[in-house]
This record gives sequence, C-alpha cells and structure tokens, in this order.
Amino acid sequence: MGCLFCEIIERKRPAKIVYEDAQVMAFDDIHPQAPVHTLIIPKKHIATNLDLQEEDLGLVGHLFQIANRIASEKGIAENGFRLVMNCNRDSGQTVFHVHLHLLGGRLMHWPPG
Ligand code: AMP
Ligand code: ZN
Repeated sequence: MGCLFCEIIERKRPAKIVYEDAQVMAFDDIHPQAPVHTLIIPKKHIATNLDLQEEDLGLVGHLFQIANRIASEKGIAENGFRLVMNCNRDSGQTVFHVHLHLLGGRLMHWPPG
C-alpha cells in the first residue's frame, strides 16, 4: 500500500517541484485543470481532511500560506485563484494523502462540477 505522494516526497517518483521546506512540498499537477494547477501537500502522511489532528492545525495554516506564496509567484494572485481540498469518494478524492489544489490562470465557474 504505497502512497504516490509519499513517493514524490521521497524522490522515488518524479514531479515538477515548485516549493519545498521541512514541513511541506508543492509540485505541479500531472493533469492540470487550469494554466496553474499546483498541489501543496504536507510531508507528513495524512490520508484525508478528516484525519487531521489538533496538532496538525499549524501545518494546515502553512499549506495555505505556501499556496498564497505560489499564487503570487505564478502571477495569479491579483486576478484570483481557487483552493480545493477533496475529501473521500463523493468529492472525487483519488490520492489519499492530503493535498491542497491551487488552481488559477483562467476564469473559474461556480458551482463546481
Ligand atoms: P484528488 O482527486 O483531489 O485526490 O487529486 C489528486 C490529483 O493528483 C489529481 O489532480 C491528479 O492529476 C494528481 N496526480 C496524480 N498523480 C500525480 C503525479 N504523479 N504527479 C502529480 N500529480 C499527480
Ligand atoms: Zn502519503
């Protein structure tokens, strides 16, 4: 039961890494749904949003902070962007290692599909 995103963190699987520090990593999505589509993940393996513990609250804040930084660096902050975290089956979650989708560079629609 290997985890795809843990393999990226461990450099066992290639990815276009755009940011890394001791707690988080960010890399471009392999099937981008917008001109900018970057995933920000904790290095700690946490399967879903429901599995976040009290001790992870700072880590969650850090994910959002890094998303802001990448949005600015990629030039989409001013026009706007979307942050998405899918949880479990009905949301369409396919990789069970928490990840924040940063999507931007085009006009987003609401409601989402
Ligand atoms: P989710 O549906 O929220 O679980 O999102 C999983 C995301 O991971 C999808 O957008 C996939 O395109 C993306 N993905 C799957 N495998 C890889 C990979 N090897 N490198 C980068 N992104 C990936
Ligand atoms: Zn993992």
